[in-house]
Amino acid sequence: MFNRSRSNLALWFTLTMGSILVVFAGVLYYQKVLDELEDLDRLLYQKSRVMAVNAKYDLRQGQLDLENVPLLGSNLPPLGSELVHARWYDTKGQLVQFFGTTPRAHLTMTPGFHTIKTALHSSRAMPTVIWLRQLTLPVYQDNLLIGYLEVAMPLTSTQNDLAQLRLVLLVTVPVTLGIIGLAGWFLGGLAMQPIRQTYEQLQRFTADASHELRSPLAAVISNAQYGLLSTSSNPAQQRQRYEKIVDIAKSMSFLINNLLFLARHEGRLPPQSLQAVDLNNLLIQLADNYVTQADAQHITLTCELPPDNVKVQAELDLLCQAVVNLVSNACKYTNADGKVLLRLFTQSREAVIQVVDNGIGIPETDLPHIFERFYRVDKKRSRKTGGFGLGLAIAQQIIQAHGGEISVKSAVGEGSTFQIVLPLK
Ligand code: ADP
Repeated sequence: MFNRSRSNLALWFTLTMGSILVVFAGVLYYQKVLDELEDLDRLLYQKSRVMAVNAKYDLRQGQLDLENVPLLGSNLPPLGSELVHARWYDTKGQLVQFFGTTPRAHLTMTPGFHTIKTALHSSRAMPTVIWLRQLTLPVYQDNLLIGYLEVAMPLTSTQNDLAQLRLVLLVTVPVTLGIIGLAGWFLGGLAMQPIRQTYEQLQRFTADASHELRSPLAAVISNAQYGLLSTSSNPAQQRQRYEKIVDIAKSMSFLINNLLFLARHEGRLPPQSLQAVDLNNLLIQLADNYVTQADAQHITLTCELPPDNVKVQAELDLLCQAVVNLVSNACKYTNADGKVLLRLFTQSREAVIQVVDNGIGIPETDLPHIFERFYRVDKKRSRKTGGFGLGLAIAQQIIQAHGGEISVKSAVGEGSTFQIVLPLK
């Protein structure tokens, strides 16, 4: 599934970038053609201007003098060797004089630049067909039209330049397309990574959740079946079975509530759901609620609060739930005569809540996984205390939803310190 999505991403990336590249190459080639033609036209125009200014028309005698016109006249040396032909037509379009291949007796072209194909005859070989750029220029003397000059240059060097550019494009465009394809495949892989991770997490989560639900369900079924099949008339025994079923059902309901909680509170909380929460009051209330349980376990629960009230923007119930999870763990994993301390202080622009215990502690190898869903250091022990390994995951999700951070420091046999850092109001 992931490989198919990756190939699709790479394909679409290559197609998109490839189309842009091909269009770009086309525009580049077209621009080069225009530039080459413009250069050639400028040169052609310059040469024809030099020829045109040397043509003289005697108005009184009505005679045209082309003697001094390069290529056409006999007095001056030829005007470079690039011109293939030069022709002079009179004002009626009749051929007067020419240089190069024999033209038609009449002017056929309209004034301006034209690209034409012509066959060049040499004495021995077959005629060769070449492309020419031709300019037909009306020539004026004292605002009076005295004739038409037609000159042409071969397009061979322009064609060679363009052929070279075509070759470069023909090589570079496919090579670049190949590189784009590889880059697309690589980027597709990068884009797939977080999706793959989320998918694997989800799969693990579903497998863990099903596993956690399967065992209590099996226990419920076996207890119920035993109750139905049993011939015992002892009501105390029957009651014991029902009580067991109720206990298991309660634990399942607790697990399902936790799972629903994790599913519902994903992502940052909207600002409108936040309110100013006084952390001093919150911790005092929490300590009050837990003091009876702590006393029963012979644990000393104390609070260490700053003189000034510390306020943060938070969702009261959720924040309460996060701290409760930490305090309840501290009590769960601290032996009799142990101590649990709730500490609150501020540092720069942050409020810090610490839940410190001198309980059993967490092994170093387990610390990086402690906030993962369903992670328990000692499964047997956690089961006895009714834990599913979701309490810390929930606390972390809540704190992150508030834009805060949760962390832990712990040493086996010495105790643990869980720390919540929240931005101050
Ligand atoms: P559980 O519901 O199993 O307690 P948690 O997510 O709250 O799940 O905790 C995960 C694991 O982290 C627990 O199984 C426990 O082993 C360990 N743990 C959490 N808090 C403490 C603590 N204060 N002292 C020692 N171990 C702890």
